[in-house]
Formats: sequence, structure tokens, C-alpha cells
Amino acid sequence: MNTSGPPNRRQPSESRWRRFLRDYRFEIIWAAVVALGLFLILERFSIRQTLRAWIATLMETSRGSIGRLADVVLRFLAATTLSDVIGFVLIAGALAAIVLRVRWRLLRSPQLALLKCPVCGSDLHRVHRRGLDHLINAFVPVRRYRCSNRECGWRGLRVGGGHGASHASTGTGRSVRDRNATR
Ligand SMILES: [Zn+2]
Repeated sequence: MNTSGPPNRRQPSESRWRRFLRDYRFEIIWAAVVALGLFLILERFSIRQTLRAWIATLMETSRGSIGRLADVVLRFLAATTLSDVIGFVLIAGALAAIVLRVRWRLLRSPQLALLKCPVCGSDLHRVHRRGLDHLINAFVPVRRYRCSNRECGWRGLRVGGGHGASHASTGTGRSVRDRNATR
């Protein structure tokens, strides 16, 4: 006596652009942080060039007080280095966040975990991984498969490392949880 219908996930009234903004707002924000970091570094670079020209003229006009001038230069260098560090930290942090987000997306993708051929829908057989697959596997756990249909011949990677990992992401885990909830 199961009266629950198919999951209602489609929202055709929502525009594609708004949906993109909603789905990828995390990536958009971090891309903006990268841009801010680059802007900080590049902007500081032009400021530094201007200040360097000022210092050069200052040096010509006041040759007498070298000690004081050196002090000014040292202070200036310390200040610009700090702003550069902030810029680099922003960029590195944002890039790391984007990389982790991509990994999270790949791990959660139900299409990439489903052990059915994406071309013809046949079952997949596991085959040995290649050199590049091991590299990808270090970032996100993957396995290589080929289509069981000889006429199709599809080969490719699916996400998921452990045994039964694909089952958990295709709904078995949820049904277990639902069963427990109704008890
Ligand atoms: Zn196939």
C-alpha cells in the first residue's frame, strides 16, 4: 500500500539563469573572492610603481638624509608585502574552497554513481583503472567500467570507492531511513 508518487523535483517555471545562480552561488562567491585577491595584488602593484617613482624623486631632492629614506623604504616594503600576502591568501583559500566544492558535487552526483551505461542503459562491468584514473582517484574515488553491451562499447569512470557505495546514493539509504522513521 504505497501511495507516494514519483518525486516532484522539476520546476519548469523557474528560468535557467536563476536556477544557475541558485545552484552555483557558492562557486560564484568564491570566484569573486579570487577576483578580489587578484585585484588587490595587481592594484597594489601599480600603487607600488607610483610610490617607487615618488621615492626616486624624494631621493634626488634629499640626498643628505639617507638613513631616514631607508627607513621610509623599509616601512613601505613591509606594508606592500602584507597586502600581497592577503591577496595570495584570499586566492589560495578561495581556490581550495572551489576545489573542495567540485569534489563534493562529484561525490553527490547520482548520475556519476549509477552503474548503468549512460549511452544505452545496459549494466556495467568493472575493468582495470588506467594511469590517469589513479590520479583522479586521489582527488575523488572513481572506478573504471565498460558497458556490458558489446555493440555499445562505452567505457568510462563512475564515482564511488567502497563496495555498495553506488547503492547508497541511488536511494537504498533513504528507503532504510524512511522505514526507520515510520516504525
Ligand atoms: Zn552501453
